[in-house]
Amino acid sequence: MQRIGVFVCHCGTNIAATVDVKKVVELVRFEPGVVFADDYMYMCSEAGQEKIGEAIKEHGLTGLVICSCSPRMHEKTFRACAEKAGLNPYMVEIANIREQCSWIHKDREEATEKAVILARAAIAKVNLNAPLQEGESPVTKRALVIGGGIAGIQTALDIADAGYQVDIVEREPSIGGRMSQFDKTFPTLDCASCILTPKMVEVNQHPNITLYTYSEVEGVSGYVGNFDVQIRKKARSVDMAACTGCGECQAKCPLGKSGKIPSEFDRGLRGRSAIYMPFAQAVPAVPVIDRENCTYFKTGKCGICAKICPSKAVNYEQEDEIVTVKYGAIVVATGFDIINLDKYGEYAYNESPDVITSIELERLMNASGPTGGHLERMSDHKQPKDIVFIQCVGSRCDDERGKPYCSKVCCMYTAKHAMLIKDHWPDTNITVFYIDVRTPGKNFDEFYRRAVEQYHVNYVKGQVGKVIPQPDGSLMVQAVDMLDNKQIMKKTDMVVLAAAIEPNKGVRKIATMLTASIDNNDFLTEAHAKLRPVESPTAGIFLSGMAQGPKDIPETVSQAGAAAVKVVGLLAKDKLKTNPCTAKCDPMFCNGCSTCANVCPYGAITYEDQLVRGPGVNETRRVAVVNNALCQGCGACTTSCPSGAMDLQGFSNRQITTEVDSICR
Ligand SMILES: Cc1cc2nc3c(=O)[nH]c(=O)nc-3n(C[C@H](O)[C@H](O)[C@H](O)COP(=O)(O)OP(=O)(O)OC[C@H]3O[C@@H](n4cnc5c(N)ncnc54)[C@H](O)[C@@H]3O)c2cc1C
Repeated sequence: MQRIGVFVCHCGTNIAATVDVKKVVELVRFEPGVVFADDYMYMCSEAGQEKIGEAIKEHGLTGLVICSCSPRMHEKTFRACAEKAGLNPYMVEIANIREQCSWIHKDREEATEKAVILARAAIAKVNLNAPLQEGESPVTKRALVIGGGIAGIQTALDIADAGYQVDIVEREPSIGGRMSQFDKTFPTLDCASCILTPKMVEVNQHPNITLYTYSEVEGVSGYVGNFDVQIRKKARSVDMAACTGCGECQAKCPLGKSGKIPSEFDRGLRGRSAIYMPFAQAVPAVPVIDRENCTYFKTGKCGICAKICPSKAVNYEQEDEIVTVKYGAIVVATGFDIINLDKYGEYAYNESPDVITSIELERLMNASGPTGGHLERMSDHKQPKDIVFIQCVGSRCDDERGKPYCSKVCCMYTAKHAMLIKDHWPDTNITVFYIDVRTPGKNFDEFYRRAVEQYHVNYVKGQVGKVIPQPDGSLMVQAVDMLDNKQIMKKTDMVVLAAAIEPNKGVRKIATMLTASIDNNDFLTEAHAKLRPVESPTAGIFLSGMAQGPKDIPETVSQAGAAAVKVVGLLAKDKLKTNPCTAKCDPMFCNGCSTCANVCPYGAITYEDQLVRGPGVNETRRVAVVNNALCQGCGACTTSCPSGAMDLQGFSNRQITTEVDSICR
């Protein structure tokens, strides 16, 4: 039996307002093993920790139960406090009487009763705890960044500048992400490519950065400090080392002028060749052949690009290559796209070429875009005299078609679009239909007010019910003015939809490979929304940019820097302490069935022939062996083991059933 000390925290009024702390102390005093019990205003404070340390020494405590907040908050604090006083840190158990009790209950009596039950369960468990020793594992001093948008670029540059090797895996032929598609950026209206291109070039030339473009992560194994990542380098059909980026191949590709292959970069507003660079400033400045559309790959004929290439860089025989690289840390920066608008038939997006999305508008206004920066209707190439912007298309939605969240950047980029159009074509009438205008951010509200006050953009608080294409080529917008409470029928030349943003497709696959969690909307989840916003709950996995949630470029760049600092902090260590709460196999009960190895997400279980000796047993047989460096203590093997041979140290089957028994007592 242990000598247990129970310490009940008031957490100011966080716990004490709902739980009768003194009563908890009095009731737990008589639990088996408890030799000391006390309460304090803030157990995590220095004074609180001193109290615990003194009690350990004075009462010869061998186990502690701290009744306080979630172990996610302060388990580390209390374990360190125990260790300082000479107690093994794994002899500490937390009874979470804040998040799981005082914060979710109102009735003081019932909450107090629940707090006692939670404390009782922790006491029962600590009675069965055994001291555990942390191990050590080395750290591979190289980081991987998945996604080469502004988030990935900035994260990689900051890690590389700190002196560490970093690789970027980008699935498109060039880095740059969405920002490379924009004309100008709020809130300063500086040219997007003027600020982005130098960073893209810096990435390409940085001695500590390796770029894998047109590549994807195919598999991940290992754990923090020691990830093994398989990267598929898709065949470009162009030799990167030989290509000079002269552009001859694109210019001569017969499919280029046909306009039959829609350019992904220009959102289908113009065509591209089968051998192509997505945009002029692409990094690397090396084209790829789109094999699905290329005549040579489809019919074996053509081959013009190979014939005219002055440096003989075109290589039709090239194959995908898989490389395996070791990393200490991984940053996910896979960004976003806008939602598919097929479900929003009322806005006539699929009916009229003059109903466009905001990203398409960015391309139309860009000097290197499909119209050379001249704003024109796609139907008749005439300059629109009247434009309607519709906000929150699929954002802040309460139906299953859209997203419940605010996409955060649309109010600002719409004000940007309106001002840029007015700057070029001051006679254009612009109306913005909005639900609310949301512009928190430095100089953001001033930016929006400039659109209203100086540029006379007409903001109407109201929802648009329908956009109806008219026989004369115009569009009729049917809406409600919510302030004047009247119906509006507005004739316009062009409609721009601020479609909701969503995480890039494929993020689920990435999250599954990394065992990183995602929320209901597929955004990557932080380890703690306030205190660990750039870390995933999975050790060694970090988050950067829109993949974590909607944000603008300034916020993305700040988050990228924060993620880089966390990565550098990890890579700066030579060794990491490993979690001792790992699985352990009892060979006596193991029948070598492989169930545990099949469910282990970390590949931590192998099999070996062992001599098993015990009551009535003396034979060599195949049994499971756990690699402690790989095991992350998830417990999947213990719950799946049909013979009860697998157990988790620190969370043994016996400990858990004893906890449950004490709760049901
Ligand atoms: C119309 C519009 C206008 C905007 N204008 C502004 C503005 O003026 N100012 C401003 O501050 N913000 C603006 N924003 C917001 C801005 O676009 C984002 O803040 C920024 O692009 C986020 O960068 P990111 O790197 O996180 O994502 P992205 O730019 O989406 O980059 C993600 C990258 O990851 C790659 N990727 C995705 N999945 C994978 C995978 N599985 N493997 C490898 N690579 C992958 C993608 O190809 C892409 O290159 C605007 C947004 C929109 C929609």
